[in-house]
Amino acid sequence: GNIRKPITGAGLREVLANVPHTTKAVRESDLNNAINTDRLFLTFQPKVDMNTKAVTSAEALVRWQEPDRGLIFPDEFITLAEQSGLIEPMTYQVLDLAVKEAASWKDKGFDIAVAVNLSAASLIDLDFPMKVAQTLEKYGLPANQLILEVTETSAMIDAQKTLDILTRLRIKGISVSIDDFGTGYSSLVELHRMPFSELKIDRSFVMDAHKDKDSRIIINAILGLAKALGLKVVAEGVETQEHWDFLKDAGCDIAQGYLMGKPMVSADFTAWVQDWKSKL
Ligand code: C2E
Ligand code: MG
Ligand code: MG
Ligand code: MG
Repeated sequence: GNIRKPITGAGLREVLANVPHTTKAVRESDLNNAINTDRLFLTFQPKVDMNTKAVTSAEALVRWQEPDRGLIFPDEFITLAEQSGLIEPMTYQVLDLAVKEAASWKDKGFDIAVAVNLSAASLIDLDFPMKVAQTLEKYGLPANQLILEVTETSAMIDAQKTLDILTRLRIKGISVSIDDFGTGYSSLVELHRMPFSELKIDRSFVMDAHKDKDSRIIINAILGLAKALGLKVVAEGVETQEHWDFLKDAGCDIAQGYLMGKPMVSADFTAWVQDWKSKL
């Protein structure tokens, strides 16, 4: 077959080191400090079932708060975290915070899963599934309340090892989502082998879908593929009623975007959920 040769160890570090990064303003020592002093926190963005309007889950999106610099967004530090190795402690911190919050939602009577973004480093770490299970146990969150989002590109760095890790997670009952679909490069053969339960259509296609024929064709093709593979489909970046209407007609299952809600700190998120429910 045409399965790409896996990149591991030093090769992987080289791949990650060559990812261009735009900002030099964020330093490794600052990020290390931030991780150790709780300056990273999470915001949560709702994912809504397009048929029932129920809030099915919330994506945890990390933020970095520096007293003198204000809020720093992940696009400014994830690459640095990946290049420096800080991504590992950061991912565990994010996972811990996300699972803790989801357990608190469960205590409030909400049936809402939490989605956590992973980087390539977790997808070659054979201890990762066990550590995730330990975190779920720590907070008493059922495995089916956790979704892990991975991009095509990071899943293909060492497809064999990643398949092993994702399978172990799925066996435990954790869901796995393929993020930013359509922007990476994965062969359909490899995609089909991976135990994904959900596919997220990248925002770039959603943005122009209602006015651009090519984006529509791509979205319809992705939906056809996802249905054939038995995957739930989430559309990212749903900003307008036009986006919603087009996607609903096309058969999309779940929507995420500013039309419903922006990423919010947990207290705001639970208030948002109450408000959303009261309007149904
Ligand atoms: P992503 O996983 O694709 O997350 C969705 C991004 O789209 C988020 O940006 C979100 O705020 C933004 N977004 C959501 N709805 C809309 C919309 O309607 N319109 C527009 N224009 N944007 C929307 P954010 O929070 O800046 O995160 C950017 C990326 O950083 C994420 O993309 C994800 O790849 C990464 N990231 C965020 N948190 C983490 C984390 O804890 N760990 C890792 N490894 N990566 C993370
Ligand atoms: Mg994501
Ligand atoms: Mg995404
Ligand atoms: Mg995206």
